Amino acid sequence: SIPLSYFASIGKAARIGVLVKGSNYVDRLTSTRIFAFDKTGTLTKGSFKVVGIVTKNGFKEEEVLKLAAIAEKNSNHPIAKSIVEAYGEVRAEVKSHKEIPGRGVVAELDGTKIAVGNDAMMHELNVEHECFRDETVVHVAVNGKYAGYIIVSDEPKEDAKKAIEELKKSGCKVVMVTGDSKRVAERIAKELGVDDFYAELMPWQKVEVIEELKKKYDSVAFVGDGINDAPVIARADVGIAMGAMGSDAAIEIADVVVMDDKPSKVSESLKLSKRTQRIVW
Ligand code: ADP
Ligand code: MG
Repeated sequence: SIPLSYFASIGKAARIGVLVKGSNYVDRLTSTRIFAFDKTGTLTKGSFKVVGIVTKNGFKEEEVLKLAAIAEKNSNHPIAKSIVEAYGEVRAEVKSHKEIPGRGVVAELDGTKIAVGNDAMMHELNVEHECFRDETVVHVAVNGKYAGYIIVSDEPKEDAKKAIEELKKSGCKVVMVTGDSKRVAERIAKELGVDDFYAELMPWQKVEVIEELKKKYDSVAFVGDGINDAPVIARADVGIAMGAMGSDAAIEIADVVVMDDKPSKVSESLKLSKRTQRIVW
């Protein structure tokens, strides 16, 4: 039978806005020594803002922003939304639009091919580009020619640093996984005090990181916002979804759902489950 204190613990978690989907996850959480966090939308707010545009090959700033906005119009990615917002109303209709997870988008308009995405995408399209920044940049190529890049910024959530501190105090290791560049990942990792980070990952490579960690640790927790993350949440021993912005698929598949997207609720939940175990023993 399940000790009553487990139900009390699930109830207490619910009161702080954390949905634990079974008493077994209380146990698993207590034995977890490593927490892997997704970056964008999980540790950071996930609401990007365009903060600069750098043009190349004779392109103009307005032109680069306009073409990027046209290409990103049909994308739900937070980076896409920031570009469309910075431009204003996009009237042009693209002939085709293809989203490449962890990379960007390619679109076609009146015979013009527009590619908008990260280093990896430009590399794959053989577009010569160069950029060394520790901010998130979105490259723009027009008919295979490099037009420049748009700088977007995304701030860490207010309680992210505290959440990581608390988890480390509880004796856990904290790592960050992201599809963003190494430079951005390194800056955010330092700022927040995470022990280690894995960058430039495709969504399926995040799953591989979790598999590797599972070989070394009895229980691995992964915290994600669900945008491309559902398979990673599914594979972790304790899959935690940020519920407010996250996708329905992620919420369904998660073992624990944090309703208001605060990373500190993860460290609070760990404390609650540890308290429960002391009562049971
Ligand atoms: P994270 O792993 O940090 O949550 P994502 O997996 O959502 O980030 O995206 C990884 C990277 O892929 C982004 O940092 C960005 O460089 C690129 N990217 C993905 N979708 C888009 C898009 N629609 N427009 C531009 N870049 C994109
Ligand atoms: Mg994300």
